[in-house]
Amino acid sequence: MLATLRRIVQEVSTAPNIDAALATIVRRVKQAMDVDVCSVYLTDPVQNEHVLMATEGLRPESVLMVRLRLDEGLVGLVASRAEPVNLDDAPAHPRYKYFPESGEESYHGFLGVPIIHHRKVLGVLVVQQHARRSFDEDAVTLLVTIAAQLAGAIAHAEASGEIATLKRLKRDAAEDMRPLQGVPGAQGVALGRAAVIYSLENLDAIPDRTAEDVEAELALFREAVEQVKADIRALSERMDGVLPAEDKALFDAYLLMLEGDSLIRATEDRIRAGNWAPGALRDTVAEHVRIFTDMEDPYLRERADDIRDLGGRLLRCLQEETPAVPDYGDGTILVGEDITATMLADVPVEKLAGVVSARGSRTSHAAILARALGIPAVMGVVDLPVGQVDGANIIVDGYGGRVYVSPPESIRNEYRRLAEEEARLSDELTSLRTLPAETRDGHRIPVFANSGLLADITPILDSGAEGIGLYRTEYPFMVRQQFPGEEEQRRTYRRVLEQMAPRPVTMRTLDVGGDKALPYFPIEEDNPFLGWRGIRITLDHPEIFLVQVRALLRANVGLNNLNILLPMIGNVWEVDEALRLLRQAYEELLEEGEAVTMPPVGVMVEVPSAVYQAENLARRVDFLSIGTNDLTQYLLAVDRNNANVAELYDALHPAVLRALTQVVEGAAAAGKPVTICGELAGEPMATPLLVGMGLDGFSVSASSLPRIKWVVRSFSRSEAREVLQHALSLENAHGVRGYLTRVLDEAGLGGLVRPGN
Ligand code: PEP
Ligand code: MG
Repeated sequence: MLATLRRIVQEVSTAPNIDAALATIVRRVKQAMDVDVCSVYLTDPVQNEHVLMATEGLRPESVLMVRLRLDEGLVGLVASRAEPVNLDDAPAHPRYKYFPESGEESYHGFLGVPIIHHRKVLGVLVVQQHARRSFDEDAVTLLVTIAAQLAGAIAHAEASGEIATLKRLKRDAAEDMRPLQGVPGAQGVALGRAAVIYSLENLDAIPDRTAEDVEAELALFREAVEQVKADIRALSERMDGVLPAEDKALFDAYLLMLEGDSLIRATEDRIRAGNWAPGALRDTVAEHVRIFTDMEDPYLRERADDIRDLGGRLLRCLQEETPAVPDYGDGTILVGEDITATMLADVPVEKLAGVVSARGSRTSHAAILARALGIPAVMGVVDLPVGQVDGANIIVDGYGGRVYVSPPESIRNEYRRLAEEEARLSDELTSLRTLPAETRDGHRIPVFANSGLLADITPILDSGAEGIGLYRTEYPFMVRQQFPGEEEQRRTYRRVLEQMAPRPVTMRTLDVGGDKALPYFPIEEDNPFLGWRGIRITLDHPEIFLVQVRALLRANVGLNNLNILLPMIGNVWEVDEALRLLRQAYEELLEEGEAVTMPPVGVMVEVPSAVYQAENLARRVDFLSIGTNDLTQYLLAVDRNNANVAELYDALHPAVLRALTQVVEGAAAAGKPVTICGELAGEPMATPLLVGMGLDGFSVSASSLPRIKWVVRSFSRSEAREVLQHALSLENAHGVRGYLTRVLDEAGLGGLVRPGN
């Protein structure tokens, strides 16, 4: 059963389109389960019906003809219950409905399972038998597993419009246009053209692209083939005398494949049909892999790996000729499987209109950078058909976390209007630049900017920030080939401190590990977020820590606007040890004749243990700063970068809010100020809560800063406290969000939490 299942899944996953995938499923399942009928019904939520999309066993003409209301028939029963229905005599069931057009008069055995993706029923997979048959547990699990695999492919196809085309339904395209759902990465709306960025290594991630010059593309491909042949011959020669002749035969097999017709000719045909060489190669390799994987003979099945290997070699040669990175035009929407902060930083800012990533979440560093740049972003769009959207018109709704691929004119017009309203709102907000962030009862709450991902701090100065509340020092470490030296670090920090002076700059000591890797300092761990990261690394490597704090102290000479912040503190002794090293660096520098001063030092509260020991920690240092990004992931046990659980990751969870109030109380008991620098600080709907808690300052991305100031200026402290009290009485994040949206709407600030005014 397992082998059958694996083969079906493999075949479906490499099917060239959804039509082929559905046809494969019904054919293979019918065969494997030895049933008379296998059919797939897809749910159309616009028309409120289930439509027969593919069948093996019922009349082929009944495809698209058989339609059931959402609650109609046994198919409707499976969908509404969202669980399998297994009947040995279907016509005897009260929900049975007979469709003459299907020719299904005499089927008794019935097993239907829902096709569910992210809790949504997308359709029903059904098998039927003439005879009475109650399906056994193996059969049920097989069908459930296949339906689960199929769900992803269907969700992709729905999102890319493939299903709509397939159905040829003549209804208003606008109505049928369902957006892809991800999580909001950076607020704002953008319209533009997709530029897919992909890993050079991964053949599956190659997008389709139209070959502009077919002959040139063919020549490129042939060159790559010749190059790979030469490489393999060279490899083979090098193995002379090392490998026995029978093992060396592998190289001959490779050469045969490169000389034979099937792999080469099929790719050339695809290029002639209009795809560019890497896209054509991807499809040919997938096709061959499918054929081999399908073979019963285990030796031949293994050959699928050889094909993949050859495909990868050919791809690498092609990449040398073709730039992997597209030419970015105006209004580029950067799209990719897993967009990283560095990929994003590679695109000229003036060309970049939006960002869409299939992986990641709101607190991924790419999203943080997008916010710093004021570029709308949607992360974790798991159903994004990355390979098929290159060059497509895309709308990014960074408020709702929605992405429209090739939307109809009506939707484009609507979003153009929203984008104009946005621009007007931003213009209005710039007038706040010189006004203080002051509550209606005259209480000032300084708003600082987060920085460090960008060298350029002009946007921060333009935003009216009162300083930098979090400078992430790891970026200069990430873009180099080795640890930067003391003098190099000093120059980097000095530039920032000078530009901001006399405004304060809080620089956080190196916080690598977790999802932030240094290419030259690899850390292999099963649970990197619970492993060696932040202060844990730098205390284990005092030489790294000492170089950094020496550079910081020297950069501060004569300016005195530096604060130092310690990340990932989970124990008081970590603070004591860091302070000891800091003092050591300070005294050494004094001895060396440097006019250094001891800057204020703070602790980040981003680990649950630090919440409960906030007072103990605060007593040791000058201030606390709450990092809600990590604190949320650790409190809720939800990986901040994992798109599968992105919906569970919410810093407005009542448990997180309670933790924040506890930190504020701890800091107050120690008589020390506490600020907040996690992404929650930049969410306008959280501002009344944070003001109500009594936080002493916010540090947010430069692009969110005017909005946050606006909210601060719209509430008095007592109003904010009332909002906080009510929010704390709610039981889940969803309720808190709903409530805060109403609060902002009533205060006339609705435009800050969704597109338009
Ligand atoms: C945080 O965890 O909230 C934080 C500000 O740090 P980072 O996002 O860099 O981990
Ligand atoms: Mg953190």
